[in-house]
Amino acid sequence: MRLIDTHTHLYLPEFDSDRDEMIERAVSSGVAMLLMPNIDLNSVVPMLSAADRYKNVCYPMIGLHPTSVKENYKEQLDILTGLFDEQKFLAIGEVGIDLYWDKTFLNGQMEAFRLQVELAISKELPVVIHARDSFPEVFSVLQEFGGEKISGVFHAFSGTRDDANKAIEMGFLLGIGGPVTFKNSKLGEIVREVGARNIVLETDSPYLAPVPFRGKRNESAYIPLINKRIAEILGMTEEESSAISSGNAVKLFKI
Ligand SMILES: [Zn+2]
Repeated sequence: MRLIDTHTHLYLPEFDSDRDEMIERAVSSGVAMLLMPNIDLNSVVPMLSAADRYKNVCYPMIGLHPTSVKENYKEQLDILTGLFDEQKFLAIGEVGIDLYWDKTFLNGQMEAFRLQVELAISKELPVVIHARDSFPEVFSVLQEFGGEKISGVFHAFSGTRDDANKAIEMGFLLGIGGPVTFKNSKLGEIVREVGARNIVLETDSPYLAPVPFRGKRNESAYIPLINKRIAEILGMTEEESSAISSGNAVKLFKI
């Protein structure tokens, strides 16, 4: 099995004490590639140093996370965009709108998201979207780009069935992680409905650990637990479901 963790913040301090071992555990559990979404200006250096240290395993994206959008977001975006001069990125991410934590910067969040979708279009890269309590707002920004070709992932998908169908219609995949293993999660029904061909696997580590590690630190070596649950839901073998979701990731991120 060749699995891909399409969303891990493995450069965060949570992994400072055992990052090498953690990555070894992931690789030896069959998780061959780890894709790293950026958060803000502070996370760039640790993320790029991880990409450098674990070449051909860890790949960086670039973007400004919606909860990091403050008054100075335009300056931040200029600096992040400038990094393209010296560095290759797989995607623009993670970007989007988060109205769960703070609604103060809704307009700023929408504008920062819009600018980053434009950047993705101009660089011909996929967009990794963080949407929390904000599906109508995210869809409305994406719809402004009606005729343009946009692809990407709704990471840690948490929307309704309608949101899922709408995202897929717009050309996006759903990022499915630890919550699909939670007992009371409705995500299983959505996965059953959309099928393996519309999803990619992710941990969002160190957050959102799957059962039986729920509430603990998450890591990429737990991707097989997520794949196993998805295979159960879809009535497939683990090899079949991993082949399809990894195929989706390879095609989307061109890895
Ligand atoms: Zn994330």
